[in-house]
Amino acid sequence: MTAAVEKTDLPAIEAEGWSAEEVLAWGFDRFHPHLALASAFGAEGMVLIDIASRLRPDFRLFTLDTGFFFPETYELMERVEERYGVAIERCRPALSPHEQARAHGEALWSRHPDRCCEIRKVLPLRSKLAELDAWVTAIRREQSPARASTAKIEWDAKFGLVKLNPIADWTWQEVWQYIRTHRVPYNPLHDRRYPSIGCTHCTRPVDGGEYSRAGRWAGFAKLECGLHDRAPGTANGG
Ligand code: SF4
Repeated sequence: MTAAVEKTDLPAIEAEGWSAEEVLAWGFDRFHPHLALASAFGAEGMVLIDIASRLRPDFRLFTLDTGFFFPETYELMERVEERYGVAIERCRPALSPHEQARAHGEALWSRHPDRCCEIRKVLPLRSKLAELDAWVTAIRREQSPARASTAKIEWDAKFGLVKLNPIADWTWQEVWQYIRTHRVPYNPLHDRRYPSIGCTHCTRPVDGGEYSRAGRWAGFAKLECGLHDRAPGTANGG
């Protein structure tokens, strides 16, 4: 971290009435260039990228490239770089897929998805966040029960920095309205019943009525990668 950021500095309560643009603008004013958007290029992430590009063309964007994204996701990443003129910071795991298989056995995701996510997402994220004072996510409250109490600006106690969730209160319909109005590029898998898109091994299409993240880690009682856990006994996510 590069600046003294105190949890008590956060305008957490006022921010609940702010628009996504206002939350992001506050973050850029306070933290740029030590603030970055995290994205796996789902519909919500694309909305945030578009809003950020209008506020701050030199915004920073990173992804946790597990090596297991869908081809459609990698293609979308190229389109994002072209359209928004941003160089995506690709955070890769210490182990290649082959090295992981040698060290932990084949298809770790099918036996111990938490361990696989730890290696391929959580550890690379921890390393990236150590460079930053604030990060921005596209999580929304209605995505899953664990996300229902997400604040728009909060202290991330797990990783020790400020976390902005500018579209926490948006609905799935609002996300798509924005995408259509602003002609934002999106992952074509969304048109094939994949509301939430992660690694190929752990993502399936969902049926109507399921939570949008129900298609992640089918067969396991797992809806999160370990990136957005809250420290127990802490208010406001921190
Ligand atoms: S989503 Fe699946 S394949 Fe991707 S890191 Fe997590 S367990 Fe591994």
